[in-house]
Amino acid sequence: METHAVACPNPACDNFGRRRSRDIVAVSPVGKDKKRERFRCKACGRKFVATCGTFMYRMRIPEGAFLDILRRHHRGQTIADIAASIGVSTDTVLRVFDRTLPYREQVNEALIMECSLPARTAEEIVQLMEHRARQRTTQRRQRARETGVPR
Ligand SMILES: [Zn+2]
Repeated sequence: METHAVACPNPACDNFGRRRSRDIVAVSPVGKDKKRERFRCKACGRKFVATCGTFMYRMRIPEGAFLDILRRHHRGQTIADIAASIGVSTDTVLRVFDRTLPYREQVNEALIMECSLPARTAEEIVQLMEHRARQRTTQRRQRARETGVPR
């Protein structure tokens, strides 16, 4: 995990959700958590694991792959195609889609900063995810009506 992707997870802190803040410093790993990178926010003192408070939290793929999945979908690749090209499961692709909306500002910024995409393209990608989410809600409602199973 790259340090620049780390953001303070404390909603009461000025650095909340802000990636690349100079106030975020690495903390040497201790105890049973040795494998997870830990950080501390100098502004509020909160300690946290690398991806806490970011769209990468508990994602098991690198940030580059996350963004690549979104870009490929924007270019018209299907979920199955994307999964095969990157070497992940279709579930992982869907998790990336699901993860994008709650973190839309962060993802938008990452697409511009990390992938050097024009702001307009980054916005299109996030909007595409919104469109997909709306479609899926409609499909779920339709299925529930057809089968009579409330969800
Ligand atoms: Zn903080």
